[in-house]
Amino acid sequence: MDRNELLAKNRWKVRYSYTCTCDPTCYYEKDGRHTTTTFLNGGEQDQGTEAVADHLAQFHKQEGVKVEEVWQETDAERDARIAARQREAADEARGIWWGMGGAN
Ligand SMILES: [Zn+2]
Repeated sequence: MDRNELLAKNRWKVRYSYTCTCDPTCYYEKDGRHTTTTFLNGGEQDQGTEAVADHLAQFHKQEGVKVEEVWQETDAERDARIAARQREAADEARGIWWGMGGAN
């Protein structure tokens, strides 16, 4: 599977919270916890939310990770993500001028 195929797949996302370890504790976070959303990689969604939580905690070095929701992108979300990525790539290409047009 090449990079473009990988990007074109609907990816799995996770929303989770974790303990605020900011010093000083940030006053704007609810109940001393941060909430964030990120992508899952390589089938983690099939291993259950506890495995996902463990992985997030290790990968991001966060404490008290609690998975709120795991879901797969809708086609619209996927398309928006790909479009954003293509705009970025186009901006870079303009800046660096690789001259690699033609493929699209
Ligand atoms: Zn914080």
